[in-house]
Amino acid sequence: MITILSGGTGTPKLIQGIKRIHDQKKIKVVVNTLENDYFSGVYIAADIDTVMYTFADMINDETWYGIKNDTFITNEELNRLNSPELLRIGDKDRAIKIQKTQLLKTHSLTEVVDIQRKSLNIKAKIIPMSDEKSQIKIVTDIGELKFHQFLIKEKSEPKVEDVVFDNVKPSKEVIPSIEKSDMVVIGPSNPITSILPIISMKDVKKALEKAYVVAISPIIGNNPVSGPTGKFMKALGYEVSPYGVASMYSNFLNKFIIDKEDVELKMKIERIVKDVEIANTKMTSMNIKEELARLVLNT
Ligand code: GDP
Repeated sequence: MITILSGGTGTPKLIQGIKRIHDQKKIKVVVNTLENDYFSGVYIAADIDTVMYTFADMINDETWYGIKNDTFITNEELNRLNSPELLRIGDKDRAIKIQKTQLLKTHSLTEVVDIQRKSLNIKAKIIPMSDEKSQIKIVTDIGELKFHQFLIKEKSEPKVEDVVFDNVKPSKEVIPSIEKSDMVVIGPSNPITSILPIISMKDVKKALEKAYVVAISPIIGNNPVSGPTGKFMKALGYEVSPYGVASMYSNFLNKFIIDKEDVELKMKIERIVKDVEIANTKMTSMNIKEELARLVLNT
């Protein structure tokens, strides 16, 4: 059994590789929920949906958001009616989100996601990190912004001064899942907005200290592969480098995988993490994803 900690872009790419080589029934994914919110009248759990669509081979893996080959009839009609959406939702994707919104009236998020993954015939278990409502705010030079306002409306352009998020209770399956796993994989997700919210929850670090934990750097050189991760790390005082990422996880990390471009950092990182491995971590093809997955799982 393995448990993967995930956001909605870097780790799902790795999951595409892992699901090719590992029995899906023996995979559990704990997914960030802090960015979840209501938009256009529906509940949007973007990272959870991305992980579900990745397992169901439905993901739009150009944007890592929504369903591939989806149509946008409702979205276009809303534009015509002068009610543009902050998040552009495809039609099939909207059906999943409408169902989630309806089910949430009588079920916890954990239960809703379990119902949906079963109806999509997904064998892996997808676990929302928390069933509680929560928020993440980006404090910027133009004021405090909600995560999606910063990311989409402001195109991640403002200077980031701080990232603040609610400390929520882990959903009931998070700690047992970590405790029962032979390995915990922290995918190459945004350490500040995707992983830190998960590992900051009560008892998660304690469980990770007892587990065998492998992480993959989302940073190559001094830049993230994509997105505003660098801005967030800098704002919280971390060096924007694989070393900076390793220093966030070093208390419970057994193995850290860095990119071949950063081979000169191996010795420096080995001072804080026992085992450091080098790989091609730019997941630009299915073969690279699978190769990286084999290194992570040691198979
Ligand atoms: P979000 O929820 O959409 O913010 O996505 P994640 O937190 O899961 O992933 C964002 C992180 O993925 C960014 O820091 C990227 O640098 C990283 N990332 C994206 N693609 C790759 C890749 O191919 N390789 C590596 N190493 N990191 C990647």
